[in-house]
Parts: sequence; C-alpha cells; structure tokens
Amino acid sequence: MRLGSYAIYTIRMLDNSHTAPLSLYLHVPFCGTRCTYCAFNTYTNAESQIPAYVAALCNELYWLGSAVQQPLHTLFFGGGTPSLLSPSQIANILATCRAAFEVLPDAEITLEVNPISVTGDYFEQVRALGVNRLSIGMQSAHSGELRLMARDHDVEAVPRTVRAARAAGFENLSLDLIFALPYQTLAMWLESVQAALALQPQHLSMYALELENGTPMTRDVGRGRLPLPDDDLAAEMYEVADRLAAQNGLFQYEISNWAQHGKECRHNLQYWHNLPYLGVGAGAHGYANGIRYSTVRPIPQYIARAGGQSAPLPFPFTAAVEAHEPIDAQTAMLEHLFTGLRLVRQGVCDSDFQARFGVSLLAQFGRPFAMLRDQGLLRQEGDTWRLTDAARLISNRVFAALF
Ligand code: SF4
Repeated sequence: MRLGSYAIYTIRMLDNSHTAPLSLYLHVPFCGTRCTYCAFNTYTNAESQIPAYVAALCNELYWLGSAVQQPLHTLFFGGGTPSLLSPSQIANILATCRAAFEVLPDAEITLEVNPISVTGDYFEQVRALGVNRLSIGMQSAHSGELRLMARDHDVEAVPRTVRAARAAGFENLSLDLIFALPYQTLAMWLESVQAALALQPQHLSMYALELENGTPMTRDVGRGRLPLPDDDLAAEMYEVADRLAAQNGLFQYEISNWAQHGKECRHNLQYWHNLPYLGVGAGAHGYANGIRYSTVRPIPQYIARAGGQSAPLPFPFTAAVEAHEPIDAQTAMLEHLFTGLRLVRQGVCDSDFQARFGVSLLAQFGRPFAMLRDQGLLRQEGDTWRLTDAARLISNRVFAALF
C-alpha cells in the first residue's frame, strides 16, 4: 500500500504492546564491496553521500522522536556497514537520538562491524559515545569461502578485530557465521565454528545460507556452477554446531542464535517478542501503533524525503515512509506465534497470549497446535508451547500450518 495521506489511525487493537519500551533500528546502506549472497538495501561506491545521509537521518530521528511517548531501550546500527560511519557521525546520530527520545540509561546500543575497516582507536571512540555491543561479520574461517562470498576481509582480520574491541573495553561481542555454503564440508564448517568459539564471543549467530532473488550466488547455484550441501548435511552442520556452542557456554535461545545467559540480543528479542520497533534510514522497516511500515530505499530519494521534513507527522510516520499496512488483531496474533516460536527455549505461553490479546491461544489455534504436537513438531509443557528439536530446521512448515 502506498502512503498517500497521513491519516491518523484509530485501529482498535486487542494487542496491548503499545505500552512497551521501543527499539530503534538505524539503517546504514553503505558497503565497501558487495557480497555475492547479499540482498540487503546497501550500495557500494556511495560513500560521498554519507554526510548528507547522516544529516537526513538526524532530521528523520528528530521528527519521529517528537511524536514518541515511550522510551527507547535498544538501538541497533545495522546495514550495510555501519562502521563506515566516522565516530563524529555516530556521535551526531546518538546525540540526536538522546535529544529527540528518552534513551534509557541501560539501553543496549549495538553497532554492526565489518572486520576490515576498524581500529582500536575507532572502538575506543564509539565506546565512549555509549555503543556497548558489537556484532562482527565473521561469516567463515576459510579464506576460500570468504573469497566465494566476496567478503572484503581476510581470516586474520576477525581475531584482530576482536582483540582491538576487547582492548577498548567491549565486553559484549557477537559473531556471525554462515553455513551450508557451496563446496562446504562438515569438517570445514566445524573449523569455522571452532575458530569463532575460540574467540569467546558472548553471542553467536549461525545462519544457513539463504539464496535471495537476484544475487550472484543465487544465479550461480541456479545455473549449476556452485554445488550446495544437501539437506541432510546442512542439518548435521546445524546439530553439531549447536552441541559445540553449548559445550562452550553458548546456549541456543532462537533458531539461529546462541548466547551466554544474560547476553541474548535485547534488540532482536524485541522483534521475536513481537513488540514495537522503529526503523529509520533508507529501506528500514518498523512496526508500531498497529502499523507495519517501510521507508524509501534509494539513498538520494531518502535524503530528499527525510531531509526535507519540516513538521511532525502522526506516529509512526515520517516523510521517508513509502509503504505501510495496518496490522489487525488476527494478523498480530499470527505474527506473535511466528516470532515467539522462534525462541526455542522460551516458546509461546498461553497466559501471556491471553494477557496480550484477550483470547486463549488454544481457542484460536487449538486444532493446528494439536496436529503439530501429534506430528512431533511442537511440544507442550504446562501452558507453554515450543518447537521440538526436529522442528527447528523446518520451522517454515510449522508456521505454514498455522494459517
Ligand atoms: S557487508 Fe553485509 S550488507 Fe554489505 S554487502 Fe556484505 S552482506 Fe551485504
């Protein structure tokens, strides 16, 4: 749906999530090079636009913040490569956030980092600004795999980056890995997992390769130029990585995420708890006040629209919002299940569901839940429902059955 006029929505939601603290995602759509598997809204050779982009982002934040009541408890600089922003640009953005919103004193503030572009001095400066969590794109410990993905860093850059971050005082580090890559064997994958665990991160994300439309990797796999591991091998990679992570004190809390106790990503938990979040920047997504929305994707259009706003709009709109959709109660309940069941330890609790939506989980979804339980894909303990271990790898099948 295109945003034609800024009507004030008066959707009567059963959902009471509007009282929760908010999360804020800040999209930074600049990268040094383009990875072969990437379908994110990000651009290369566009660094000259960063100053104008930061100015537009700050203007968007200013007007959005002026319409917000709830405090922010997480901020996440994602991309793209947010570490292409200078410390003074990050300082400018964070100062605008603190002026426009109430940022809680213990807010989690994450910066995504590519291991190529950062030094100890950079880490010290952004830590002094309040950034307290780093998410480092490791992806693999094999130089051949990094080349295949067209990553712009070498294997040694990751431990060097982790050492520099620790020396600057960061105590909450997350690493990302990708498995089921072309030509990847179980032994190669385990070497990457062991290399990541040897760096003792507080948090580890391990994603199966997703073949997104339009990427070079998808094209080459489609033409038979790149062989992928079969499903059984991918499942074995996942199971073994889960065991290794647990042996090293990282416990799975979401389908693709492991953490030390207390170091789960609070920002991403906001998504998985289906609670409201704001998205700013080019091609960002948000969900607040019963409305899911996205902003315009090309950088020049974003700069023109966000930078040109000169008055507040009804929450959660800004001039950069390009599309939006009201989320009705039935959709909100389904999304609550899709995101909540991803939390493999926590699951979805009937009493929480009732408190939020005013209706019993089993009254709404009793039949598919019983069927999925009988198929060994859901398990019930008291009034909590969780994916079984077997279902973690085929969660889409579970979610499809709930429609
Ligand atoms: S660094 Fe990240 S956002 Fe940039 S091209 Fe690679 S995968 Fe995409």
